[in-house]
Amino acid sequence: MNQRIHIFDTTLRDGEQSPGCSMTVPEKLKMAAKLVELGVDIMEAGFPIASHGDFEAVDAISREFGNRDFTVAALARSTRLDVERAGQALKHAKRARIHTFIATSDIHLQYKLRKSREQVLEEAVKAVELARTYTDDVEFSAEDASRTDPDYLEQVARAVVAAGASTVNLPDTVGFSVPTEYAAFIGRVVKAIGDKAIVSVHCHDDLGLAVANSLAAVEAGARQIECTINGIGERAGNCSLEEIVMIFKTRQSILPYETRINTEHLFSASQLLTSMITFGPQPNKAIVGDNAFAHEAGIHQDGYLKNKSTYEIIDPKTVGVPEGRLVLGKHSGRHAMASRCLELGFLDVTKEEIDGIYQGFTALADRVKGVRNDQIIALCKEVIAKRSPISA
Ligand code: MN
Repeated sequence: MNQRIHIFDTTLRDGEQSPGCSMTVPEKLKMAAKLVELGVDIMEAGFPIASHGDFEAVDAISREFGNRDFTVAALARSTRLDVERAGQALKHAKRARIHTFIATSDIHLQYKLRKSREQVLEEAVKAVELARTYTDDVEFSAEDASRTDPDYLEQVARAVVAAGASTVNLPDTVGFSVPTEYAAFIGRVVKAIGDKAIVSVHCHDDLGLAVANSLAAVEAGARQIECTINGIGERAGNCSLEEIVMIFKTRQSILPYETRINTEHLFSASQLLTSMITFGPQPNKAIVGDNAFAHEAGIHQDGYLKNKSTYEIIDPKTVGVPEGRLVLGKHSGRHAMASRCLELGFLDVTKEEIDGIYQGFTALADRVKGVRNDQIIALCKEVIAKRSPISA
């Protein structure tokens, strides 16, 4: 029996609040439609108290998609005004979640909040109680949880669950944790609150470990992952939705977890987001990068053409990428180039002609970054033109 993992998408909140990623309300609605198609369980649509635009986005998404099979969430600090504003923005959602948070680490208490542990605990409980007057679905986040004293954190977790929170999120807000440490830390809270609430994780990628930490947390009992399309988010970003989802799907035999994500929409979701914000994923980004399914090295291309499984662990169609791309460049072998000639319609070239074309190809590939199809066509035509009238 696979364990169900809830995917909490925060592209429209944590992602949107990072540099170069702001979106207008109509853009957020367009992205929300894609997230619905993708099958996220919870969509965090904004932080209503932060701006009028954020309020409007949460309200518009709640109205437009409120009756669909997913939950709309809105963020609120643990204050009365924030929680009320979130509750109002979510009024039209059929399934609404108020996500309230307060920092729990001593660093944040001392320098940012200037509050005692007792004060923070009391405010957290009050916020959850107030949120419950708007909806039964309340999530509490202990900001900077991974740098919080574990005894205090456990106390906070028990208190907010007793106050009515059904999800307790323990973020690695500053991307400081490492998988073994994070797993132990999550495991302790999972044990403390048992099945009274779902433990959630929210990892940042400052050390490039957001996905690894999220996976470790799931193995320690977390059942909700907060993540974003293309891994966008504050600073180095959040856990990448496409990566964590494809890890479960690709490694089912050792990871008995499942999500309800329709993975064939992953690539188009990534493309849609890229079209709205100022940057796309880096070319070598797992799953959705331009090169994620491209093969250039000769030995790799030869193996791939004989059987895709030699160098490809995911069928590109599974994530909505049309097909594996062989890039023809200076590392490409004869076999890959000959296949391209066939694809381009040169069906009757002889082995000797391929040798000739390949010679011209390697000379060209040394000078350019990648050889284009029109250049291959020119090379083929050049060699074929040398045929004697009889053999032609
Ligand atoms: Mn965050």
